[in-house]
Amino acid sequence: MAIRDIVLYKNNEKVLRKKSEPVRVVNRRVKKLIRDLKDTLLDRPDGVGLAAPQIGVHSRVALVRLGAHSDDDREPDPPIALIDPEIVEAGDDKKDFDGCLSFPGLFAETVRPHRLRVKGLDEWGKPFDRVFEGFDAVVVHHEIDHLEGILFIDRIKSIEDLYQLREDEEGRLVRVPVSAVGAR
Ligand code: ZN
Repeated sequence: MAIRDIVLYKNNEKVLRKKSEPVRVVNRRVKKLIRDLKDTLLDRPDGVGLAAPQIGVHSRVALVRLGAHSDDDREPDPPIALIDPEIVEAGDDKKDFDGCLSFPGLFAETVRPHRLRVKGLDEWGKPFDRVFEGFDAVVVHHEIDHLEGILFIDRIKSIEDLYQLREDEEGRLVRVPVSAVGAR
């Protein structure tokens, strides 16, 4: 088990902004990286994806947990690895929920494709070519962005779409727009 520290935007934006390099061959180093990413992601029940730069490694490897929906509490699938992922087709852009382990407590409505065809290698080094739909496409797109140094705060249309979740007096989670927090 190697649970790694997750790079936080507020401490180290530079690491998250650096573009990652292609892997090409799934060797022992890459397999160890995937194991570390899995251990780190599974340690965070609030996370459905994690990219190598978020643990300070600039290799094009990202993990996603499919089957997570913003509107139910079902446990998402175990993580799968996307290595050297390349977007072949993207469509059905829509606003949806977004958040990131590198931005604790911050959430947003971002516009991303809800249909995404991606080619790449799986964790055994075998090529894949598959279509992700709905919120799965959002998660995959978010993680591929990380490999380019693009962050979810770059995908908002306006500052009003960025918010924190706070508990109100009755213990319900309410959205507090970051624009309102800044004004206080
Ligand atoms: Zn992220």
